[in-house]
Amino acid sequence: MIVMDDTSCMVNVARFFIEFCMTESCGKCIPCRAGTAQMHTLLTRICAGHGTMDDLDLLVELCATVKETSLCGLGQTAPNPVLSTLKYFKHEYIDHIVHKRCPAGVCNMEAPVAAESPVEVLA
Ligand code: SF4
Repeated sequence: MIVMDDTSCMVNVARFFIEFCMTESCGKCIPCRAGTAQMHTLLTRICAGHGTMDDLDLLVELCATVKETSLCGLGQTAPNPVLSTLKYFKHEYIDHIVHKRCPAGVCNMEAPVAAESPVEVLA
């Protein structure tokens, strides 16, 4: 059990767990290998104040795809922290994307990130 208070940013927590899964992925199947990396990119953009609502839609889509098509438990459960935080703390994602603020004061909203969003790359 992990206990957190309002000084923890739920978007950053989701990013932390996705980063763990991304680095632990063995790379055998594409949904887990590429999907966790793309989710990490999207969450990094959102944490840095560069996320868009399209990024959030893609994140939800990726969660479903990675969960349903990964070969083993690591990939199948990797999206869970994102899905849980989206279910209970979606307002924190919205704060980062729309209001460019981190309610917990954890995220550096001025942080530089890769110029292109995965949404732009896929378009
Ligand atoms: S889901 Fe399992 S088999 Fe597929 S890349 Fe991830 S760790 Fe490897």
